[in-house]
Amino acid sequence: MRGIYIGRFQPYHLGHQAVLEEIAREVDEIVIVIGSAQESHGPENPFTSGERMEMIYAALGKGELRKRCIVTTLQDINRNSLWVSHLQSMVPCFDLVYSNNPLVIRLFSEAGVMVKKPPLYQRDVYSGSAIRALMREGGDWEKLVPPAVAGFIQEINGVERLCQVSKSDSASSADSAMHSSKETDF
Ligand code: NAD
Repeated sequence: MRGIYIGRFQPYHLGHQAVLEEIAREVDEIVIVIGSAQESHGPENPFTSGERMEMIYAALGKGELRKRCIVTTLQDINRNSLWVSHLQSMVPCFDLVYSNNPLVIRLFSEAGVMVKKPPLYQRDVYSGSAIRALMREGGDWEKLVPPAVAGFIQEINGVERLCQVSKSDSASSADSAMHSSKETDF
């Protein structure tokens, strides 16, 4: 039996990991689909699909769970009614989907695909938006992601990137004037 678990994973956190461990108790193989693969360098989607893939592999480690997971990426399309067929054409075959995202549940259910809703793990704490907010505010975000993911985000200066792409040019005008000899604004 093969299940899929789709998410943006911006970033991959301990709520995602708890869901994955739950899914692993029910199916033999899991296809982890990194959605919105085209997105990066934005306040809601700071990390590239490749970086998100590295986070997931780092969190999986080298044990039994890793051997049972296939990690792949999927770009969005601007027609929700065609999204399930788009996904089916791009990922390995699967028997059921795990999601708590209402749109994802709706689209798969309408397409006649079995959907299971995994239990929520402190959704207010373990959520991508809450973790990105902590990163921007200098809060304690590291404890909300697997240690290997925290290490990877630090390695790529992910927090600095998120803070920079979350600024508006008007808010940073004094800053950019000071650094105009060194930096180019795009
Ligand atoms: P996400 O990373 O926010 O969450 C991934 C999954 O984990 C979701 O099911 C979420 O409910 C669950 N989750 C998160 N925290 C949890 C916690 N603490 N406890 C339990 N479960 C938790 O990703 P997402 O936004 O749900 O990803 C959906 C993807 O599907 C997006 O990339 C979206 O763009 C894509 N999509 C695309 C289209 C289209 O292209 N037309 C249509 C539908 C969906």
